[in-house]
Amino acid sequence: MLPKVKVILVGTTHPGNIGSVARAMKTMGLSDLVLVDPQTEIDEKSQALAAGAKDLLESVTIEATLEDAVKDCGLVIGTSARSRTLPWPMLDPRESGIKLIQEAPNYPVALVFGRENSGLSNDELQLCQYHVCIPANPDYSSLNLAMAVQTLCYEVRMAALAGVEPVSNDVPEEQYPSSDNMEGFYQHLEESLNQIGFIIKAHPGQVMTKLRRMYNRARPEIVELNILRGILTATQRGRVDTDNDSK
Ligand code: SAH
Repeated sequence: MLPKVKVILVGTTHPGNIGSVARAMKTMGLSDLVLVDPQTEIDEKSQALAAGAKDLLESVTIEATLEDAVKDCGLVIGTSARSRTLPWPMLDPRESGIKLIQEAPNYPVALVFGRENSGLSNDELQLCQYHVCIPANPDYSSLNLAMAVQTLCYEVRMAALAGVEPVSNDVPEEQYPSSDNMEGFYQHLEESLNQIGFIIKAHPGQVMTKLRRMYNRARPEIVELNILRGILTATQRGRVDTDNDSK
């Protein structure tokens, strides 16, 4: 049995692709398919292309947003066919397979795929800890969605067959927060930076994106995240005290 790895498709428009993805996953031993805001129904084209993997279509989970789909995940890897303006920590497909197998026993982990015509939005890419790009022909690097799923699920399978060992997280200090805990932290951070006047609400600029990238790169453990949140709470309290003192 392969450890559970969620495959998340965002905004898929072609029903056939959903079927082909189910087949790609099942051939590689994966079964946890999540559709975020699908732009099509699962129809007879999906069924036909799923072939022997129709059971995956019956058990899909549907979520409204990517944030909802990854909230319980401790590791989220987003796919991108091209490099973005703000570079994010990158993994190659092989490293992605290894990392997913190492961490899957500890918490839900996910691979995220984008829309056929426009990929993942910047906000969606920022919900991922790492990005993975299949190093295809630089002159024509955009694979069909299901082919990209096949390639990355193959790497997950190869890592599992090679006997990659899970990274134990018995030590509480080494456990990573779930995505919704990280989002809670970013909200708290933004709120505090607004209160102390570091971010001007009308002109937020790129500060939050850059901070997200930095904390993401550091990948704080649960214990470290609690310290950061404690600092924010103390900063907010200090701000209130100063306000009161000056009255
Ligand atoms: N035109 C889109 C590409 C969409 S391809 C764009 O420029 O972003 C549909 C999806 O397949 C992508 O969102 C991604 O999840 C996956 N994909 C296609 N080619 C890929 C590649 N070379 N590396 C990683 N993922 C890829």
